[in-house]
Amino acid sequence: MYSVAVVGGGVSGLSCALTLADGARRFDFAKGKKFLVVDSGSSDALKAVLNNVPGVKRGTTGEEYLNFLKEQVEELESVNLVEGEVEEVLKEGDKFKLVLSDGREFTSDIVVFATGFHSFSVKCSLVEVIPHPNSPRPGKVALRPKEEGIFVCGNAAGEITMVAAAAGSGVSVACQILSHWAGKVVVPHDKIGG
Ligand SMILES: Cc1cc2nc3c(=O)[nH]c(=O)nc-3n(C[C@H](O)[C@H](O)[C@H](O)COP(=O)(O)OP(=O)(O)OC[C@H]3O[C@@H](n4cnc5c(N)ncnc54)[C@H](O)[C@@H]3O)c2cc1C
Repeated sequence: MYSVAVVGGGVSGLSCALTLADGARRFDFAKGKKFLVVDSGSSDALKAVLNNVPGVKRGTTGEEYLNFLKEQVEELESVNLVEGEVEEVLKEGDKFKLVLSDGREFTSDIVVFATGFHSFSVKCSLVEVIPHPNSPRPGKVALRPKEEGIFVCGNAAGEITMVAAAAGSGVSVACQILSHWAGKVVVPHDKIGG
């Protein structure tokens, strides 16, 4: 049983998990919460060489960038990164159930879709699939949540298709979830000197 399950572990999904896990480390209201990321391994970043991502050295490959993000997430320990394909997401009572193509099942309080913009193959009536509003190419999709407890980030949320926008969108959704738990706006900021 997870507090948040993220479907898609590319740029936005990992960025969302990183911020959630950081929140769980520092805020009493989020202590003990566990997070799941399920990823089928086809992030667009794997095809990219990054010469224009703020703060990232020119020539860094997208794969290097994703591996670094994974390391950051794993250091925080409250995130379970799982390889696999989510086939179905459904609501059962006040929880969500994820069913993977190999039959594994996971339960969570909240689901974040970070599935990119190419297509949406998950059997799920909890989101609406719409044309992507910011794609440089036709035929791409975005998702709109239809249910409380469902969030969307990155290209799947209709963001402009750049790494920084996807990462920012994942972080923003994580802060919305942390703020929902806190009952007020919270952001995990560190200051020099602790
Ligand atoms: C060739 C190329 C070059 C690029 N170059 C640049 C660049 O120079 N600078 C820049 O800023 N951006 C670049 N981009 C764009 C950047 O890679 C994307 O904007 C970014 O990866 C989007 O992040 P995302 O998290 O929304 O989607 P992605 O990173 O694509 O992640 C989506 C993830 O969801 C997973 N997934 C989907 N469905 C399921 C499912 N049912 N179950 C489990 N997992 C699922 C996929 O496997 C994937 O890992 C480039 C993209 C491409 C294709």
